[in-house]
Amino acid sequence: MRVLFLFATIFVAAVLAVGQETHPSMQGMQSLSISYETPEQLSLLKNYVDVPGFDFVKSTNDLVDVLVTADKIEEFKQLLEEHRMNYTVMIENVQQLVTEQYIEQEVERRLQVATQDYASGRLSFTYYPNYKEVNEYLTYLTQTYKNIASLITIGNSYEGRSMKVLKLSTGGGNKPAIFIDAGIHAREWIAPAAALYMVDLMLQSHRDLLTKVDWYVLPVLNPDGYEYTHSSSANRLWRKTRSNTGSNCRGVDGNRNYDMGWMVAGASNNPCSDTYAGPKAFSEVENQHMRDFILARKGQIKAYLTFHSYGQYILYPWGWTNKVPDNEPELRNLASQCAQAIARSRRTQYTYGTSANALYLAAGGSDDWALGKADIKLSFTYELPGGRSGFLLPASEIKPVGTETFEALKVTHQYVTSKYASH
Ligand SMILES: [Zn+2]
Repeated sequence: MRVLFLFATIFVAAVLAVGQETHPSMQGMQSLSISYETPEQLSLLKNYVDVPGFDFVKSTNDLVDVLVTADKIEEFKQLLEEHRMNYTVMIENVQQLVTEQYIEQEVERRLQVATQDYASGRLSFTYYPNYKEVNEYLTYLTQTYKNIASLITIGNSYEGRSMKVLKLSTGGGNKPAIFIDAGIHAREWIAPAAALYMVDLMLQSHRDLLTKVDWYVLPVLNPDGYEYTHSSSANRLWRKTRSNTGSNCRGVDGNRNYDMGWMVAGASNNPCSDTYAGPKAFSEVENQHMRDFILARKGQIKAYLTFHSYGQYILYPWGWTNKVPDNEPELRNLASQCAQAIARSRRTQYTYGTSANALYLAAGGSDDWALGKADIKLSFTYELPGGRSGFLLPASEIKPVGTETFEALKVTHQYVTSKYASH
């Protein structure tokens, strides 16, 4: 116990150290969940999008979640009350929760470091792995499952981190493939962790999913941003890449940067915005590598799944327009089956629909590109659960979320097999 306390003390000191870049202070920042009913109420909320001190992290047809800094919170709450809008405080003090989680995270990591499993590279899935640990785990998989798992390095990130795709294949040619990525948004930690946990489940106990389908998994599509959120608690809510586009503000929203209706809606041309689409489509080198990898396997990859958080949505194209793709019935049907499979597992309720219609217009998304440009007919974005704490979902949820989402993976695999595999 004393040892744990010591670690805790050390890490309080470490996490309070702030880097050169300043982010909105999380001290006293609150997460509000606000329900709205009228168009007037919605437009009132919209006035605060991209206003410093406000971070709209989730929006639906009748509800928004917004992080508000301490200096703005009281005035904002007053405004909500004046306009008769109900809200719930989901997180009382974001900084406190972030700090607590960093300590828990570090304590859990220290406990694992001493084990043989950790030395081998195996992940415990009891804390969120950093970029290095993700890579060690990928290497561990290739050593442990030599005949099935291999790594393909697809290039380096802006800051020079290597990007690795895990290939799972039992061999033989002409198999359909499913491509999975996660972590394009840095702060959505549950996404890479759940994706890797599903890989773990597949290799340990569900090898049947490998018989007729090859899998490609890119667990961290934005390694610089991901590592940045791990490097200091002050950076925990970073979303974008870390590229420098020549402004005072760094980073591009990778999921507004794809070449499919780029910048037509739901994206910003302001480098300081969290939805900055970049100076041009595919300005981000990470997205370029992913694009090239997928296009090199055009025709083989039959399903594209990208994991985000949070909100419990299964979304499919289009996000750039309210129109729907030709195969919308097929996408809706498969999304419905996946949502049902997840609900059967742990009663987690997912909503599904096109991104634009179920959520909001957002152009330049990877799922739109996968369908529109890479011709992958089955293209889905998963917004994994956030519980009450959104991006700060406790690590104890990695396995439960991975387990329930794996049910959707099974359904997708079954669909791909029956439609595309030779029998
Ligand atoms: Zn996201």
